[in-house]
Amino acid sequence: MKSILKTLPLILLLVLVAGCETRVFHPCAAGPACRTCHGTGSYRCTSCMGRGQDRCTQCNGMGRSDCNACFGRGTRQMSQFNPNTNMIEYRNQQCTGCGGAGKGACWACNGSGMKACGSCGGDGMISCGTYTIEDR
Ligand SMILES: [Zn+2]
Ligand SMILES: [Zn+2]
Ligand SMILES: [Zn+2]
Ligand SMILES: [Zn+2]
Repeated sequence: MKSILKTLPLILLLVLVAGCETRVFHPCAAGPACRTCHGTGSYRCTSCMGRGQDRCTQCNGMGRSDCNACFGRGTRQMSQFNPNTNMIEYRNQQCTGCGGAGKGACWACNGSGMKACGSCGGDGMISCGTYTIEDR
């Protein structure tokens, strides 16, 4: 109990220090001489070629992925106790999650096949400049 009382103020102090740090963005100051943005302040995202969207890696752009409920089999094995034979019987039942198709709308992209680019956050452009951590 004593040790908790000792460490508590230290934890609070650490939280306060972390809260004082801010990420400050410094826009590119090189102007037209900048090889990256040529003075525009932003440059086209290279991972999505400026589209802001990337092909969904989960479904490879198909918009459909294996059904989560049946793992793409289209059927689910149901166990049922049969009182006549006194045994548990297994039988395959059509998956209700995908209607037996084995595939459903991709959960990662909601079936669109595309998702926001992770490198530019969907903007297609990346700000040219640097980030610094500064104390306030
Ligand atoms: Zn620049
Ligand atoms: Zn299914
Ligand atoms: Zn997808
Ligand atoms: Zn991008």
